[in-house]
Parts: sequence; C-alpha cells; structure tokens
Amino acid sequence: MNNRLLTIGLEIHCKLKSENKMFCQCKNQQNFDILIPNTNVCPVCTGQPGALPTLSNEALRKALLVGKALNCTINKTSRFDRKSYFYPDLPMGYQITQLYKPTNTKGSVSFFLNNYTEEKTVEILDAHLECDTAKMIHDGGQALLDFNRAGTPLIEIVTWPDFRSADEVTEYLKELQRIVRYNEISDADLEKWQMRVDVNISIRKSESDPLGTRVELKNMNSFSAIKRAIEHEYHRQKDLYESGENFTQQTRGRDDANTSSYLMRSKEDALDYRYFPEPDLPPLVLDDNTLNKINNTSLEIPYEFIKKAKDEYGFHKEYINGLIGDKETLDYFISIENIDPKIKAKWICGPIAAWCKENFTSIHELKFSKEQSIKFLQIAQEGKILENQLKIIMDEMINTGKDSEDIIKEKWFDAPWLDANELESIAKAVLEENPTIVEQYKWGKTTTLWFFVGQVMKKTWGKVNPKTAWDMIEKLLSK
Ligand SMILES: [Zn+2]
Repeated sequence: MNNRLLTIGLEIHCKLKSENKMFCQCKNQQNFDILIPNTNVCPVCTGQPGALPTLSNEALRKALLVGKALNCTINKTSRFDRKSYFYPDLPMGYQITQLYKPTNTKGSVSFFLNNYTEEKTVEILDAHLECDTAKMIHDGGQALLDFNRAGTPLIEIVTWPDFRSADEVTEYLKELQRIVRYNEISDADLEKWQMRVDVNISIRKSESDPLGTRVELKNMNSFSAIKRAIEHEYHRQKDLYESGENFTQQTRGRDDANTSSYLMRSKEDALDYRYFPEPDLPPLVLDDNTLNKINNTSLEIPYEFIKKAKDEYGFHKEYINGLIGDKETLDYFISIENIDPKIKAKWICGPIAAWCKENFTSIHELKFSKEQSIKFLQIAQEGKILENQLKIIMDEMINTGKDSEDIIKEKWFDAPWLDANELESIAKAVLEENPTIVEQYKWGKTTTLWFFVGQVMKKTWGKVNPKTAWDMIEKLLSK
C-alpha cells in the first residue's frame, strides 16, 4: 500500500516570563524544582472562595509581544473564558483561558528546513493567554500537589494542521523557541516543561481527502522525543488503517523509553469543558497607548536574520548555526558594525565559539572586551597581518586577554616594511633563483605564488606585508 499523507497541527504552551503570576501577586518562579512546595501561593491562585483575579500587565505585555512576533492580529477587545473540569491540580475547578475571543488571532510563522535550503510558512490559529495548573507529583503510590505553579501565566500557540513531516515540526519548534527566547518572552526549556508541545496527528491518502481521525500526543520533553513520537504514531495509524481497524479521537501519552504510546483518554470535545465567559474578569480592552507601545517594540526574529545571513552575507550553514544557536553570540555579532560579516563570523563562530564551548560559558566571559575584539577584527579586515599570525594573536587574546596591538608588537608582527625598491629587488632575486617554479606558474599553476611569497617573507625576515609581496610578485610574473 502507498504511503499515506501525514497531517499535523500543534498546540504549544510556553511559560511566560513575568515577575508575578497571571492573576495574583505571587512570584512567577521559573524553576519549581528549587522551591519548597506550596510556599508561593495565595487565596487567588489556590481558588479560595471570594478571591478575585486581577490581570498582570507584564504577562499581558509578553502575550502581546508573542502576537506581534507571530504576525497575529492583536485584537483590541478580547475575553477570558472558564474551562471547567475536575482534577486535583485545578484548585478552582476551572482554568482561566481564552476560547471564544482570544487576544492574538490569525498569524503565521516562517522557518527554514533542510539546512536552510528550503522554507515553509505555517498559519497560526491563535495565541491565547492561559493559567497553568498546579503540579502533581507521584511519589511512592501517593499523588502530591504543589500549588507553586498554579496560576502562572502561559501562552498557548495553536497552529493549523499545516505540517507534513516530523522534520517540519521540529524546525518550527526550534524557530518558535528562538523567537520567545530572543525576545525575553519565555525561557522555553523543554526539559523544564517551560515549553510543552501537544501534537495532533492524523493520516489520509491525499491532500484532497478530509482529515483522518486525530490523535493527540502529549508529554514529550525533547525535540528528538517529539520526532520519534510522530514517526511512531504515523506507522501505528497506518497499520490500523491497513488492517481495516477504526479508532476514535484520543489522547496518547508517550513512553519514550519504550518508544511506544499509551491511551490517556479519549478526547473530550469543547462541549465537555462547559466553556463560558469568565464572570470575574471584564473584557480585555487594549487602549491605543498599549497597542502603540507593542507596535513600536522592535523584536528579533531569527528567521529574518537567517534570511539575511544566507542571501546578503552568503553564509554557509555552519556560520548560521554558530550564530543563531545562542542569542548572546548573535547579539555580539550584530552589535559589531563596519566589519565584513564573513570576517566577524569566521572569528566568532571559530576560535571564540570553541573557547565558549570548551569552558561551558558565554561570549561575555571572554578575557578581552568587545572593544578589543573590534580592534582585532579591524586588523584582520585590513589584511596587513598574515592569517597564521592572526590566529596566534587571537589565541593569545583568548588565553591572556591582552590587546591585539600589544601582541603584534611583542611578536614583531609589525616589523617595519621594506620600501618598494628593496622589495622589488628581493622578489626579482627569488624568481631568478627558482626558474622551474616560475615556469610552472606560467603553465597555469597559480598556487606557486604562495611559494614565492613565502620565500620573500623569509628573505626579508617578515619585514614585508604579505599582500604587498603578493602584488609585487604577481606584477613581476605578468611581465
Ligand atoms: Zn497567588
């Protein structure tokens, strides 16, 4: 039987970075593992009778930035809704979310595939605000509850079923993670469950067929686990269709160690949650001032940088990977002006990145300042210092934090140049001493020019600019 077409839609929850929880003054902790359980709670986030929610401006601002970054329509009027269900991690018996009139609707995200050789755009249905639940910890046959997480702000980003492969999903997730990280919206660490991904998968024979029965996959906390889960689910559904079995809409959890999935629950419809407008919160009406502020905030969109790096700078994938993998490195790169981007990338993605990696540290921990870095890059750009000398200078800067100019002096890399006449006579002598190689050059072996430059450098004790020597020899050979 032919392969079937995979169709995937995603729902991603990102934990918003804000000082406080979404509707109360409790701190919005980013790492629950280091906090004593149930110490960061109040009547609002534990759902005590009579406690009323007040929306955090900061959480709202972050949500609006998500809307802007994902090219959404930011709605002037939106609303909160109650999603009711009974579960111990939900102290109020309902979750405050946005179903009917979300704040951000109709957006799109573009991203690259296959090592930046292809690109794709997926449509966003909405990006809405939602409160997180408490954390349930299963310990020795007991279920324990930690309400520190209850009421912390989330943004849920819902896509249309636009994905056709596991690779498209993971590349999109990486782009989304970079967007929220670069703009301080969320740390989006999958392992810490700061970014949670629900994958809705169905298969069908062709694009023109209606969508097949949808299965939702949850509880995956790495990109590779998500990729494996999608591939596994594709084959599971394909086998079911092939054997003529029907299955119902359902939610499956991942047992990653066994690369299998298990049925968590058959999927409830929206009706089962009895959604209705949240009576304790007024409609969310954004004033012009707030909207203008968001419109005037400039955001870093990694896709746009990659596009520029590819088309304008002509970067290969190693340079792009080296720069976009870490925001601090990218910012460092961008902040250095008036230097050829390829020269910047070569040194930042090369020895500097290698040092950061070896020492598990960031570019800001370098022993030399950005000003020193700029001075070095200017010297590299001038082309007066040999490539291997530049490497020596950079190594020394990394190890000692010394100034490039001091290293040049110490190592006599700046020995006074010969004048043009002296250089010409030495270059002539070198050519006369090596007639066979001159012959080879004239037959088209142009790489022999390096040999002559080397000989001139040797005879002049390095007191000549290699580029000047190169030009001189080239001139003499063309006669
Ligand atoms: Zn609270």
